[in-house]
Amino acid sequence: MPGSRLAWYTRIYFPTIAKGMMVSLRHFFKKPVTINYPEERPKVSERFRGEHRLTKDANGNMKCVACYMCATACPAHCITIEAQAAPPEWENRDKIPKVFEIDMLKCIYCGYCVEACPKEAIEMTNKIPQVYDNRQAFIYGLDKLLNN
Ligand code: SF4
Ligand code: SF4
Repeated sequence: MPGSRLAWYTRIYFPTIAKGMMVSLRHFFKKPVTINYPEERPKVSERFRGEHRLTKDANGNMKCVACYMCATACPAHCITIEAQAAPPEWENRDKIPKVFEIDMLKCIYCGYCVEACPKEAIEMTNKIPQVYDNRQAFIYGLDKLLNN
């Protein structure tokens, strides 16, 4: 503004620059709070709800009996199951999933599917949800879920 005059010490900006440098210097020697993700992985709580896994029984067969309980409980409607008859040698079940897919883009990681499962066939790992460059990769099928 015409006529307004700044004090001489404001005009040289020295105090402000010095203050800024002090802040930078103070943080320079502190332990960083960031990590080099994805090379470094953060430590998460044991209760962290990460990517899903379909579990297997002692014979290495998937525990899932294609009962649709998880898909019914899922508030995001992101689980797709198609059932088929179980192989005769697989005891105690009539059905297994032919298709079991979770759309990770829709999932809100609420854990309701895990709670709803009567066979403890689905669990949530502590793996941080991954990021991909195409939508199809976010749809996890049987192979991916069994080996996640
Ligand atoms: S965690 Fe929640 S939103 Fe995700 S698949 Fe399970 S029930 Fe659905
Ligand atoms: S994961 Fe569990 S709840 Fe879901 S279909 Fe399989 S057995 Fe049923």
